Amino acid sequence: MTNKQAAIKILRRLRSNGFEALLAGGCVRDMLLGRRAKDYDVATNAQPKEVTDLFKRTLNVGAKFGVIIVLIENQQVEVATFRTETDYVDGRHPGSVKFTTAAEDASRRDFTINGMFYDPLIKEVIDYINGQADLRAKIVRTIGRPAERFSEDYLRMLRAVRFSTQLGFTIEPLTWSAICTNSSNIAQTSGERISIELEGILINPNRSAGASTLFNSGLAEVIFPGLFSKNRKIAVEVLGQLREKVDFPLALAGLFAGCETDFAIDMCRVLKLSRSQTKHIKFLLANRGKLLDSEMSLANLKKILTEPYFDDLYEFQRAIQMAEGGTANTAVLENLSNRIKELGDVDLKPKPLLNGHDLIRLGAVPGPALGQLSQELYIAQLEGKLHSSEQAEQWVQKWMQRHREIEK
Ligand code: ATP
Ligand code: MG
Repeated sequence: MTNKQAAIKILRRLRSNGFEALLAGGCVRDMLLGRRAKDYDVATNAQPKEVTDLFKRTLNVGAKFGVIIVLIENQQVEVATFRTETDYVDGRHPGSVKFTTAAEDASRRDFTINGMFYDPLIKEVIDYINGQADLRAKIVRTIGRPAERFSEDYLRMLRAVRFSTQLGFTIEPLTWSAICTNSSNIAQTSGERISIELEGILINPNRSAGASTLFNSGLAEVIFPGLFSKNRKIAVEVLGQLREKVDFPLALAGLFAGCETDFAIDMCRVLKLSRSQTKHIKFLLANRGKLLDSEMSLANLKKILTEPYFDDLYEFQRAIQMAEGGTANTAVLENLSNRIKELGDVDLKPKPLLNGHDLIRLGAVPGPALGQLSQELYIAQLEGKLHSSEQAEQWVQKWMQRHREIEK
């Protein structure tokens, strides 16, 4: 069962029990655009308690705000009671919600394109806020007065940029000017919420335009203070060169392409990224330029190839090269790629020919020198100079002899 079928099944059930029920929000927008919707949300006049009574399996995620998740088969559908949100206390959470009508529920939503309902049983759009006209004109416009709607929840400014990026829409002039005037207030929003919207902007293939919008609005500078006057051009260009499908760390590396690694990592702290995402970005930024070394030793090549984010590093570097000088600038990477192909299916991370015990048996003294010996031995193995443990033993003997002479 698809998410859409699950939503419609729930909707029929609510209807047959005397409630109003409609598809709502993003899925209506996407259906009208002929895009695949991420998920299908149901809006109803049934109260949360009535929803949980009607369905066997439910999750009470936000009954206070009128939101229940209904589970059928392998699907989860959000069923929300028509509501208005009032008394915004901190530009984030509504102080209270009041259960109400579909028309009022439409007007608490953020943008006209997101404020429509759809009755799938009679195939009718229910449009209280003129969303269809804006959808046709490809416009992101707040429902109601922009400054007022943003002051209820400043994250909506970033959402406007996300929808304009994802859909290729323009932001309506009054909505845009309210974003520019209020951009500094995005700082009142939590890092986690900012991060979700920013990811939506930057992983989209239209990310370069999205980044420009972030810069032009002033939002980028507020989220990442001190960043962009000088780095903006390279960021937009690198983002524009990245392949279509990227994940968030690679996209963020693109955004910070013109910055020092430590500075970028410090800036990213506000996003509350996972440890592995941070490691990923840091790897990409800290290893910029490494793949341009046409003299890279075989051992170093094998080592970098076994890094989990190698493919992203290659892609990041390719985008930088393209941004800085077009295809003429990527020859060095193509050579590298040929070198990699020539390696065939060689074991990039072979088991060391000798381990620490073997080295001690051969007379090495435990301590820092042993570590160094073992590293150098492994490099020689990766370089393809040693193929058997006998060869390795001979190499170790020579190494120890050389070092004894140095010590004397
Ligand atoms: P996507 O397809 O990316 O999920 P969406 O439109 O479904 O886009 P969601 O964030 O899932 O966006 O929110 C669902 C709906 O809830 C929106 O379409 C909008 O009507 C409403 N909404 C979400 N966040 C806000 C907000 N901060 N302020 C007002 N309305 C909101
Ligand atoms: Mg959604």
